[in-house]
Amino acid sequence: MKRWFTRNVGRDSRRWSLWVLLVALVVALLGLLIWLAGRYESSMVQSRLEHDAGEAVTDIRSGLTRNIQTFQALQASERTASSWHISAAELLREHREIMRLEWRNEPLDVLAFAETPYRTSVFERLGRLSMQADVGLTCTTARRLSGSAYSTSYFMPQANGLGLEVLDMCLPIVVAGRITGFTVVTYSLQDILSELVGKQLSRGVGLSFTEADGTRLALHGIPSKGNRIYIAQQLLDLPGNTMVVRMESRLGTPALFPNVLTALVTAMALGLMAVLFLLARDMRRRLKVEHDLGEALAFRKAMEDSVLTGLRARDLQGRITYVNAAFCKMVGVEAKDLLNHSFPSPYWPPELANVYQQRQEIRLAGSNLPREGHESVFMRRDGTRFPVLIMEAPLINAVGKHTGWMSAILDVSEQRRVEELSRASQDRLQATARLAMVGEMASLLSHELNQPLAAISSYATGSLNLLQGETAGEKPAAAAPAPPLSEDLQLAMRRIAEQAERAGKVIKSVHDFVRRRDQVREAVQPRDLLDAIMPLVSLQARKLGVRVVIEVDEACEPVLCDRTMVEQVLLNLSRNGMQAMQGAGDGAQPARGAAPQPEKVLTLRIRPAASNAHSRWVEFAVIDCGEGITEDVAQRLFTPFFTTKEEGMGLGLSLCRTVIEQHGGFLGFEPAVPKGTIFSFTLPAALALALAQDAGSERP
Ligand code: ADP
Repeated sequence: MKRWFTRNVGRDSRRWSLWVLLVALVVALLGLLIWLAGRYESSMVQSRLEHDAGEAVTDIRSGLTRNIQTFQALQASERTASSWHISAAELLREHREIMRLEWRNEPLDVLAFAETPYRTSVFERLGRLSMQADVGLTCTTARRLSGSAYSTSYFMPQANGLGLEVLDMCLPIVVAGRITGFTVVTYSLQDILSELVGKQLSRGVGLSFTEADGTRLALHGIPSKGNRIYIAQQLLDLPGNTMVVRMESRLGTPALFPNVLTALVTAMALGLMAVLFLLARDMRRRLKVEHDLGEALAFRKAMEDSVLTGLRARDLQGRITYVNAAFCKMVGVEAKDLLNHSFPSPYWPPELANVYQQRQEIRLAGSNLPREGHESVFMRRDGTRFPVLIMEAPLINAVGKHTGWMSAILDVSEQRRVEELSRASQDRLQATARLAMVGEMASLLSHELNQPLAAISSYATGSLNLLQGETAGEKPAAAAPAPPLSEDLQLAMRRIAEQAERAGKVIKSVHDFVRRRDQVREAVQPRDLLDAIMPLVSLQARKLGVRVVIEVDEACEPVLCDRTMVEQVLLNLSRNGMQAMQGAGDGAQPARGAAPQPEKVLTLRIRPAASNAHSRWVEFAVIDCGEGITEDVAQRLFTPFFTTKEEGMGLGLSLCRTVIEQHGGFLGFEPAVPKGTIFSFTLPAALALALAQDAGSERP
């Protein structure tokens, strides 16, 4: 989950930086486009201005040339001063740019003159004579050129405090190839501009005459305010004078959207930005959906990983397309080894692979499977088999197409184990019931047998008394007594009486044991316990060809026990040991010359067991050299009714353990060396127990 989160954060930041880069690039591109469009616009304005300036210069030049023709007409037709004056006055009315017209003779004296009716006299303040030298210079040039000549412009202060930049033009009057006089024309520069060009001039454009250093001489029109001024300059080359015509424009200064192109580019830019914005919004939505999807996926994954049911998906060809963690764990195979794996699956037990294959083919061919599932056996990687319950359902994709099969697999081995356990406990219950019945039978038998045993005992005692009376009383005079016979008989009778009594005790003890009455505990020397059972053990040993060895550690203390029951335990263990040594080939005497049979030895050993300050223990062991106990038998050894013998009851060891445990001891077994089994049990030493009991009773 954490890794997913970190990966997501990384991907988000990369995506965002890409977006930022894209927006920056688009903005830069648009800026560049607008700037280029602006520049293009500027250059267009500039070239238009240049063109306009050229036009203006042409207009001025042609206007001036036209004027010269008019003047020539004036000179040709008029000879008298008065008629000249009338024509001049008319001319001056038509041409506002002309300030003064003079008719001068060859020595440049003024014969007649006329001034513009639109202004007060230009030379009112300084007088015309002040400019005589300049006029002379111009006319000299005109004479030399045999045509019109212009003076340099000069400033004439006016009576109203302002001034006017004016220019003289001298045109020689030629009569029959000889210069007879001059027409001198004074032009106002500003009026030249306004009259000859001004009408075509657009608003916001300023047209001026300037000197070479940029000093403005006359201006027509007022350029509007703006950041950038476009300037175009053209030379007006006149005979005798060259002037600079300068056109200034602020009209073409690019506003925010100087022209359609820029507006178009800007509109496109805005459109692009809008698309970018929409894209970003879409992206944000997608991111959110992606995030939600990621969350849902992580949740689903966590859920799949947490379930204990194995999940497996297969396509229609039977290839595994998905497995969850529980399934991998169940079969002990990694997901990568399972995915895309077809038949036979790695978790099929090899011996069943063929059957499974056929079953799968039939199953995959059919379209509807039973929902309740079926049982099968799978194999783990280590080869162990385990039962599973498989439920399969068809996998339908988003467009409703059947794409494969989904299986849920349950490991039912635990369920089977529990079932097994409950069956075993059922068996145990039955065994216990049978045991209870046996107990009932035993107590019934003990009750029933008590009478005849008491009778046997008393008959034996009576017979013994009779026999003793016979030997001790008055002897018949004639017959000679036979003492050896009678002594043997007496011994036999005594034995019969003893064993009958013993049988009675056994029956009583068993009866008490079954009835769970308090058993009689007494301090007994361990050796005495052995001595008591020795006659019976020896009898059976002799029959089975077993040698009995007794090892008693004299340091052993007396033990506190129900003597009869413990004797029975010892007897039972000894009998089991002797029977265990009856392997195959036994029973028949070894043939002469054959390999000697290994000696059968049963050892009865008594020694002190591990003790501590509070308790001391005595250990009894019965050691045989039989075939030993197999693992299988060992597990069920103490189970009631478990026996491997045909005539066995399977109750001996179970009873023995109960008896020993009732004494507070422990009955166990272990293999003997080199072969055979050691059955051993412990009993508490009488002294230690008495001390412990005393200590207990002294406690307040
Ligand atoms: P039973 O003697 O009636 O069969 P037990 O409870 O005494 O019943 O013994 C149960 C089983 O334990 C025997 O059938 C035998 O297989 C096994 N067994 C007991 N003692 C020994 C032994 N010393 N060596 C080998 N097997 C033994």
